[in-house]
Amino acid sequence: MGTGTLFFATPEEQRQRLKLVLKTEPAWCWVYHRRFGAPAQWRHFALETSEAVDTLTFVLQSKEVYRVYLGRRDWGEPIWRSIPFGDELDPAHSRALIFEPSIVRGNELSQAYFTALQRWAYTEAGYDAEPVYKWYQRLKRLWKRWQARDYVLCSQTDEGKIGVCRGHWLTVGAIKWYQAGGVLRSDYSNLAFEVLPLQEAESKIAPQIKQCPEGMRRCERCQGWTTVRMTPTSDDIPCPACQGTGCVPKRIRWCKRCSGSGRVQMNGIESLSLCPACSGIGIAPAETKWCKRCGGSGQIWAQSLLVEGSLTDQICPECGGKGTM
Ligand SMILES: [Zn+2]
Ligand SMILES: [Zn+2]
Ligand SMILES: [Zn+2]
Repeated sequence: MGTGTLFFATPEEQRQRLKLVLKTEPAWCWVYHRRFGAPAQWRHFALETSEAVDTLTFVLQSKEVYRVYLGRRDWGEPIWRSIPFGDELDPAHSRALIFEPSIVRGNELSQAYFTALQRWAYTEAGYDAEPVYKWYQRLKRLWKRWQARDYVLCSQTDEGKIGVCRGHWLTVGAIKWYQAGGVLRSDYSNLAFEVLPLQEAESKIAPQIKQCPEGMRRCERCQGWTTVRMTPTSDDIPCPACQGTGCVPKRIRWCKRCSGSGRVQMNGIESLSLCPACSGIGIAPAETKWCKRCGGSGQIWAQSLLVEGSLTDQICPECGGKGTM
């Protein structure tokens, strides 16, 4: 989806915040609760009042998920669609926002995600996306007021370096959870995060990242660290994209398949492999023949088989995801 905000918060904090939304906004709130397994089971239930929010524990088994839909009463009630196995809430036609909460599983807290659909999804459903986005931005600011300012999330990268995860944030409750021995884990990457005081992170990490002179920019391949690893277990070598300087000319043409990162997801989200188009260098040879069908991205938009009328990204059948001919 791409537009959302990723964070960690405790169950109590999330209940408080949802209650506040229900009290202060003309919002309806439906929860989708799914249990995986055979047979898979799911149900939807509405949170009619802020008191009903207390029934959400945010403590689940490993094979269960919640997804919370938020919409506006003044735009109408939720709209449902049929899928092969029943009915589900249609977020585009409902002009809904999606909140995937932080969930407690044993001593792990998973990452929360709050997002709107892509603008085109609302537009295709026949609505103006702008009011939806305005509402989304306002609620996102409301969630972010909670952000702890003095601590940051850090994690080890594929390159074996500790990096500050700037796209992620956490609450005071999540810091306490971590300090009491709890684990903060991303469901998307399966990464466990470290929590560092901001000053410590900056004094440890920032000086090692190259500041680039006028006319140059930070190298996409090494992110300014100057060295890379071709596999997670191999030795550090000088970055092949910037020759170990950490900086590149502003107009460099990064590989179309990996956008310069040198790595791509080939088999689902957990395995990052060396990019087949540039062999992991980040810059493809000038004579590279990019796939015409996908423009080199390795992916195309296609009609979803599960949900009629919706689009989903798929591996390009022309190049098999390589991005090159
Ligand atoms: Zn580099
Ligand atoms: Zn590449
Ligand atoms: Zn292709």
